[in-house]
Amino acid sequence: MSERRPTASVLVTGSELLTGHVADANGPFTARSLTDLGFAVRRVLLVGDRPDDLRAALEHVADDDLVVTSGGLGPTADDLTAEVVAEFAGAPMEPDAALQERIHARVAGWASRAGWDGPALDAATAKQARVPHGASVLEPVGTAPGLVVGRAGGPLVVVLPGPPRELTGMWPAALASGPVAELLARVPQAEPVLLRFAGLPESEIAETLRGIGAELDLSRVEVTTCLRRSELEVDLRPLPGAERVAADLAERIVGRHRRALLSADGRSTDELLAEALTGRGWTVATGESCTGGLLAGRLVDRAGSSAYVAGGVVAYSDAAKTALLDVPAALIAEHGAVSPEVARALADGARARFGADVGVGITGVAGPGGGTEAKPVGYVCFCVTTSDGQVLARAPRLSGGRTDVRERSVDLAMHLLLRAATP
Ligand code: ATP
Ligand code: MG
Repeated sequence: MSERRPTASVLVTGSELLTGHVADANGPFTARSLTDLGFAVRRVLLVGDRPDDLRAALEHVADDDLVVTSGGLGPTADDLTAEVVAEFAGAPMEPDAALQERIHARVAGWASRAGWDGPALDAATAKQARVPHGASVLEPVGTAPGLVVGRAGGPLVVVLPGPPRELTGMWPAALASGPVAELLARVPQAEPVLLRFAGLPESEIAETLRGIGAELDLSRVEVTTCLRRSELEVDLRPLPGAERVAADLAERIVGRHRRALLSADGRSTDELLAEALTGRGWTVATGESCTGGLLAGRLVDRAGSSAYVAGGVVAYSDAAKTALLDVPAALIAEHGAVSPEVARALADGARARFGADVGVGITGVAGPGGGTEAKPVGYVCFCVTTSDGQVLARAPRLSGGRTDVRERSVDLAMHLLLRAATP
């Protein structure tokens, strides 16, 4: 088994992706999967549906071990990926009669019902059934087959359809196909370590790594840090044989930042919260104002959340706060709708109305308007109350625009909930 990690690049095609109208889903999906499989992903390139651009992009990534393309396999004239990849691999295109039969069988039913069967359909299936000589065919999920083509002395190219549902549907077959499976068998396997921290700035981790790097040879461990959902993820990927160094490194990082550590085994706040609530047999109810249901949405994102989510109320207007969550109108009049007092009342109200063990209240100034000197944009009041008498309150001033403030509010509420639910 070689020591070097094989390299991979992803080539996403589609002119509609370049205009910004459709967000690329395939680049992130394949890059993440390839990284998890142990490849060093070097590039994700986005090109339009112009053959020259596609050719140039293929040459650009020709020194990689694996190239995955997405898009351009459809029946229309601008779907050129298979032809261009065939040319890149030096393999002539050939009709595959059996494949054409299978594609025809997939579409014949709806085409005849819709009245679309005829010469145009035949031409379309004939086009999609032309494959480069020597290529492995991946069975269509929609109508377009995927392909695995090797270039002599160059990369193995996996050609996948553009619609994300088709691409993800075909991905397991792509990985299992002979040449890809052979390449995967050569990928050195070494378990990565994923550390998650809350409330720790990246600069602190950088400083810690500099310090440890002076004592420990870290050249065989790839370290990447990433700030996501207000958490700092530190990913340690050892080359084979460097697992001990990675473990040692992880231990030292955790040693210096134990207070901020969420998990040392990759578990997210959402997973930890689900486990903590389930472990105690607790249910949670939300009373949200400025986050407008985003917290409830985040909580029910996880499958199985019905075990611990009782429900939630979006109480945006003052009247709704009073009518639906029993926040006294006098309390709002005295302290204002955005106040620690009202956050507490929202939490208590949600807990009482839903008969839950944990209640969370959020009320804040998301902006861009509505800020005052005393309560500026980004000022958000949080409160979590529990059936065992805990009251956790925060009233930070969060930075960023309206979307940032609302998203960070959800992150912060999740952390508060986790704190309250952790025994
Ligand atoms: P089709 O048979 O649908 O033409 P195709 O393989 O030729 O398949 P494209 O024409 O490139 O795929 O894309 C079809 C549609 O799939 C696009 O209009 C777009 O909505 C969606 N799509 C394609 N690529 C991506 C992508 N990278 N991310 C998100 N959506 C995509
Ligand atoms: Mg297309």
